[in-house]
Amino acid sequence: MTDCMALLVAGGSGARFGGDVPKQYRLLGGRAILRRTAEAFLAHPAVAGVRVVINPAHRDLYDAAMAGLGLREPVAGGATRQDSGRLGLEALTADGNPPACVLIHDAARPLVSAATIGRVRAALDRGPAAIAAVPVTDTLKLSAEGLSAGTVDRTGLWRAQTPQGFRFDEILAAHRALAGESLTDDAAVAERAGLPVALVEGDEENIKVTTQADLERAGRLLGTAGPAPALTDIRTGNGFDVHRFGPGDHVMLCGLAVPHNQGLIGHSDADVGLHAVTDAVLGALGAGDIGSHFPPSDPQWRGADSALFLRHAAGLALARGGRIAHVDVTLVCQRPRIGPHRAAMQARLAGILELEEERVSVKATTTEQLGFAGRGEGIAALATATVRLPDS
Ligand code: MG
Repeated sequence: MTDCMALLVAGGSGARFGGDVPKQYRLLGGRAILRRTAEAFLAHPAVAGVRVVINPAHRDLYDAAMAGLGLREPVAGGATRQDSGRLGLEALTADGNPPACVLIHDAARPLVSAATIGRVRAALDRGPAAIAAVPVTDTLKLSAEGLSAGTVDRTGLWRAQTPQGFRFDEILAAHRALAGESLTDDAAVAERAGLPVALVEGDEENIKVTTQADLERAGRLLGTAGPAPALTDIRTGNGFDVHRFGPGDHVMLCGLAVPHNQGLIGHSDADVGLHAVTDAVLGALGAGDIGSHFPPSDPQWRGADSALFLRHAAGLALARGGRIAHVDVTLVCQRPRIGPHRAAMQARLAGILELEEERVSVKATTTEQLGFAGRGEGIAALATATVRLPDS
């Protein structure tokens, strides 16, 4: 029997591809927050292994962030925090070798100390459940329309943190019995099931990163003002795409709507330029192609803004601790004329990638009326992306 497993809950149901990398995949001192959290538990002598519960929509970000840690397959989370916890516990039983105890931890608390992990684990020798918590030291006020309506007695009030530790069989039984409720932490599940939950000393630095300000504070606590890792592993990728003309009154090119007496046919918005750049970035990362990330057979991408695809690819580079150094795209068409729109396309592409404009290049050429592009049957685009990754 495996003694104690850590279960990291990273399944946050954040909007899919909202143009921003979900918090747990943001970088803290050059490494994804989730990776730092996992490393804290992997390094602890009382922890036999780590499993992570994720939102399946974030699988690419997960793979990029956790490369090389050798973890078992992540577990697909559920619609609520409680569901995700239960599904993670079920996964730990799936191979018939459940651990004796489990430490359930928020993925977004990367600064958890070895001492806190050790205290929670040790408390499980004395009872079925124990959570890290800190006593409330500020005076508490009750607010009514912006005015203080009185002082609340803080005696006996604690703020719950994670890890929350449990004897495995008991928390699994509690989760199964209470499935479908909307309890916000695992300790609440244990309490509802009648398990005594011990409060053990947490750590004021064990903060949950939920805002940009938290991320900056976590960086200060880590002392990451020091040198960033050198991004000396330079990768280059290429991309190529073609879309055929069809009925319409404009074409989308590099994120810009260009008036034309035809449109481009495609499953998404058919932005041939952004597709080529997306494939170039994915190519530099060795991360497949646009069709493997956004299958044309999936109806949710019908008419989609192709900027989503490119932001996703750029997010993968960020999750690897990398930066896009430069992208260059060439549009190949007889018409429409690109020249008048070139600067705006460059600015738009730089905006999508959150890069300085000097790191983005948009060019165009005709084919002297030769071939499909020359006959005005469609538009082709080719792109090159240069990505800098940390030296591994
Ligand atoms: Mg395409």
